[in-house]
Amino acid sequence: MTEVADVVVVGGGIAGLITARELGRDGVGVTVLEARDRLGGRVWTDRRLGRDLEMGGTWLHWVQPHVWAEVTRYGLAVTRAPRPEEAYWLAGDEVRRGTLDGFMELIDPGMRRLLSETMRWIPRPDAPVSAPGLESVDGFSLQDRLSGLDLSVEEYSANEAAWVGHFNAPLEDGAFTSALRWTAATAGSWHLMHEASAVFRLAAGTRSLVEAIAGDTDADIRTRTEVRRIEHDSAGAVLTTTAGDRIRARRVVLTLPQNLIGELDVDPGLCAEKRAASKEKTASKGVKVWIRVRGPIEPFFAYSSAAHPLSVARTEFVGDDDAVLVSFGADARRISPHDADAVRAALRVWRDDLDVLEVTGHDWMADPYSRETWLMHRPHQLTRYLTAQQRPEGVLHFAGSDYADIWAGFIDGAVESGLRVAREIRTGLGTAH
Ligand SMILES: Cc1cc2nc3c(=O)[nH]c(=O)nc-3n(C[C@H](O)[C@H](O)[C@H](O)COP(=O)(O)OP(=O)(O)OC[C@H]3O[C@@H](n4cnc5c(N)ncnc54)[C@H](O)[C@@H]3O)c2cc1C
Repeated sequence: MTEVADVVVVGGGIAGLITARELGRDGVGVTVLEARDRLGGRVWTDRRLGRDLEMGGTWLHWVQPHVWAEVTRYGLAVTRAPRPEEAYWLAGDEVRRGTLDGFMELIDPGMRRLLSETMRWIPRPDAPVSAPGLESVDGFSLQDRLSGLDLSVEEYSANEAAWVGHFNAPLEDGAFTSALRWTAATAGSWHLMHEASAVFRLAAGTRSLVEAIAGDTDADIRTRTEVRRIEHDSAGAVLTTTAGDRIRARRVVLTLPQNLIGELDVDPGLCAEKRAASKEKTASKGVKVWIRVRGPIEPFFAYSSAAHPLSVARTEFVGDDDAVLVSFGADARRISPHDADAVRAALRVWRDDLDVLEVTGHDWMADPYSRETWLMHRPHQLTRYLTAQQRPEGVLHFAGSDYADIWAGFIDGAVESGLRVAREIRTGLGTAH
């Protein structure tokens, strides 16, 4: 027997939950089908190493308008890690030790030159492909542009490591325009961009955001329900789950990440641009590792370079007897978040006085329901695909942070996209008021 629903949302991450909440307010019956046994998707607060740790998305900021509205709406408390005074970085084979402010001064000239034309190319981050001639710049990788600055070895590796932290990818894979988009979202200030992407987090974890949104909708939310196939025509769509259940819907919202969406069996098939982007994959393919070390230690920040398995590390929790560091590397294949020996060796590039007790993380690249970390485009993907990725196809609509305008790849982008798609559907179903 085939069930019937007004709207089916595929995916119970932030984008899917926001879409469901918004449509529910208009009286639209929504069913959310989530493949995993939990909601949240790429945000996931889990109890590990004796603390509530974020396996995925973590930091947010008041310059991120959509997610901050959620923080305000639900009264969620925001906190930050202790500010690191000490910083480590590399100059060739030598380790330099200084202050975080000293490191910021070191990278400032490179950052300014790299990003000097931000507002020329992305004058309106809410309309990221509107600048005439953007295609010409979209062909550059970040590596192309960084190498062209002729920085000293020390400045180069410091800038490179900072960007590997942002891109979660080798810089030759990442589009220069992605760096411009992030910076345009903070009106050209790289300092603010840096703060927006890596400092403040929810005190009770992203779990508190997921629970607040899910608890604020009457949608029929089903976990452990993977969608395998979608057949659609102008009258509606029929979804088939892996278990063989069928649901007919007037509208469907797909929230699958870019790397996955092309693998879904959709008939008639998705447009060429959506499929091509999915096949090419995002640039991001890195790793996030949580590391518990013996304490007490002073809060610190460390940057190496793209050549190292871990390019960035810093203290996120500092206790009396231990501390927990968060670290990122450009390529998940080069280091496992579960390999304590490899992590120990990677940290030694900066300091050999850290006693690594335990490590953990989640391999998002191997996860069948994400296959990516956070969206960073490859060269050309912004101008070739974004507009088509956002475009509805008949009764199918597309939400997801990967397809957002302003903070694409962030939790904010997931919220933005859910609001956009709910509006599209509301208009189409004639429920607008
Ligand atoms: C390691 C890491 C660190 C990050 N750090 C930050 C950060 O600090 N700040 C920030 O703002 N963002 C960060 N992000 C990005 C942020 O988490 C994501 O952009 C955002 O959560 C994506 O939400 P979404 O709803 O668009 O997609 P997703 O969360 O990926 O949701 C898609 C959902 O669809 C489900 N699904 C997939 N296939 C199927 C199927 N066939 N049937 C049914 N369900 C399916 C998935 O299980 C998932 O729940 C990070 C991400 C990662 C991985």
